[in-house]
Amino acid sequence: MKTIALRRLPTNLLLLLAGLALSVAACKTSTAVSPPPVGGSGGPMKLKPADRAAVEALLAPWTGPHHGAPPFDRVRAELFEPAFSLAIAAMHQEVATIADDQAQPNFANTIEALERSGWSLGRLESLFSVMTSNMNDPAYQALSRKIEPMLSQAFDRVFFNRPLFQRIEAVYRSRDTAQLSAEQRRLLEEQYESFVRRGARLDPAQKDQLGAINKELATLFADFANRVQADEDTWVTLGKKDLGGLPPSLVAAYRAAAEKRKLDGYVVVNTRSAVDPFLTFSTERSLREKVWRAFVSRGDNGGVNDTNALIVRIVKLRAERAKLLGYKSHAHWRMSDTMAKTPERAEALMMRVWPAAVVRVKQEVREMQAIARQLAAPTEIAPWDYRFYMEKVRKARYDLDQSEFKQYFELNNMIAASYHMAEKLYGYAFKEITGTVPTFHPDVRVYHVTRKADGGHVGLLYRDDFARKDKRSGAWQSTYRRQHKVGGKTYPIVSNNNNFNKGAPDEPVLLSLDDAETLFHEFGHALHALSNDTTYPTLDNTPRDFVEFPSQVHERWLLTREILDNYARHYRTKQPMPGKLIEKLKAAATFNQGFATVEYLAAALVDMRLHTDPIGQIDPKRFERESLAAIDMPKEIVLRHRLPHFLHLFATDSYSAGYYSYLWSDVMAADTWAAFEATGDPWHPATAKKFVEVILASGNAIDRAVAYRTFRGRDPAVEALLKDRGL
Ligand SMILES: [Zn+2]
Repeated sequence: MKTIALRRLPTNLLLLLAGLALSVAACKTSTAVSPPPVGGSGGPMKLKPADRAAVEALLAPWTGPHHGAPPFDRVRAELFEPAFSLAIAAMHQEVATIADDQAQPNFANTIEALERSGWSLGRLESLFSVMTSNMNDPAYQALSRKIEPMLSQAFDRVFFNRPLFQRIEAVYRSRDTAQLSAEQRRLLEEQYESFVRRGARLDPAQKDQLGAINKELATLFADFANRVQADEDTWVTLGKKDLGGLPPSLVAAYRAAAEKRKLDGYVVVNTRSAVDPFLTFSTERSLREKVWRAFVSRGDNGGVNDTNALIVRIVKLRAERAKLLGYKSHAHWRMSDTMAKTPERAEALMMRVWPAAVVRVKQEVREMQAIARQLAAPTEIAPWDYRFYMEKVRKARYDLDQSEFKQYFELNNMIAASYHMAEKLYGYAFKEITGTVPTFHPDVRVYHVTRKADGGHVGLLYRDDFARKDKRSGAWQSTYRRQHKVGGKTYPIVSNNNNFNKGAPDEPVLLSLDDAETLFHEFGHALHALSNDTTYPTLDNTPRDFVEFPSQVHERWLLTREILDNYARHYRTKQPMPGKLIEKLKAAATFNQGFATVEYLAAALVDMRLHTDPIGQIDPKRFERESLAAIDMPKEIVLRHRLPHFLHLFATDSYSAGYYSYLWSDVMAADTWAAFEATGDPWHPATAKKFVEVILASGNAIDRAVAYRTFRGRDPAVEALLKDRGL
């Protein structure tokens, strides 16, 4: 089972898109600007003098024990607008200083100087992104509509700054004679290409046009995310008679969700973590249909939260932007800094896997129909029946039911298991710290990460594991602060965010196998960020289709004997998982990969085809229907994400024409896992050392394809992935 979770991005999306990290800078023309009065010019709020200090505290370097931590205790929604005005002005000033420098442009005074700029904005953006992802109440939803376009404009001013770009270009031209280190040269090339990709070479009128497109897109993205979130904060209410087939822990979770909303009965909230188990276990077919319909209609219900018009506009603007920048389509533009490089190469990989996955689905459906026949149930498998019968087949074929191993995946044990993996592979130690570091919610736990060998500081890890109102759905990792060594060592601060159901108070939290894999997945992202050892912050930023490689490969250690024997212990008896159950688990390893691969790949193909249209004039419903017909989508399965709620594509630019990335990355993950397996030891020390040094620690300082070749001795081969999925 492969987890397809949306990973929220570490810092500002625009920065990432640009290939620039915390460090970018906006510019200004050639004159320095003085900071606007706090409260914004003409802004709605007037700040009291006391609040000026509060605003500045949000921008200040992070202090406190463990090399500083985000000041979540000082965050207040009303401070962000004035704080962003100040931080943007400060960044403009820093960039103006670089652009106006009278000295001959060189690496230090231009490229490295850019790495040193915009840090207070980076810190502020980190705080803001946590609030709009983890605590996104209506106040923050309204704020993101204002702040995102503001940031879009601020960064465009950097990319459009002609004197600045002329300096970058001059350094770039002299790169062969400038005696740069390999890392410096890499940074220079990345910076230069980012500026070109973001429109640095356009004429002033074109820059105006591009800036207007980016600004409008920023608002549309915020609207899209907020509308989907609103539709996910709806629910189907159940009575006592509607609970047929549901395991007790699930019933408790639905009851807890009802209580939280001060309702009687039970509530299936319209999020994946509540809906998928209902579809798996409920024996009430008509209710399954009702819950399924609500879930797949998110963003597609007419009314104020409908997103179809937003999609039409976003796709159109993206096509216009690509044309302006000289690319064939949005996909060609967006993919120019990826490993795949072109839509054609991504599509070729997808179509290599697709036919075998469809064949697998046909087999899966036949098996489900046979069981339905035995139960004298209708043999037409509708999409709301798939998970239900899949579970029945799993039981019949492997004598294995999900709720059985859930009892062995208790949350705290699984967290400890993931830390054990990091200790054994890379020598990290994790220790929870309480009371000394502020958090944004009582659910959040903070861990101090050290090197086990010498106790040296590595970084901090925040965990926000539970679903709650106003928190975005899905699972993601974010980097609050990147590791780098510009101006002294800066230690990484990372977070893992999940949406596990908390269940009843004082009851242990039991995870499904899928949830446990998600936990390891997000933790893999965290290990990637914690292990980074590059000098420049921008080079901590890997291509989109590489990002999911470290996360997906770490999922694989969950089912190793060492983890299962020591950590997958029954939540009540504390007994390890019986050998027989483990055998069954292994036997079922490639079970259901037809479904998982098809629902994902179909979504990735729709994404790619949507964004390779050069004109971008589409009717979302029709486009979805016709592209699914074109690939012969099995009628029993629906897209993993339908367009009206496809946050990867429409809540940011970052995963657009990029949903294939999970497959691209998984080819490397499966191939890497095969390298460990080939040694006969999944913990093989020399392989682990090579992996962390060559792959994880090097960020983007070395071209990722080159790094992979260094690690593996060859390019990644797709065979391991096909074998993994039983295709
Ligand atoms: Zn991920």
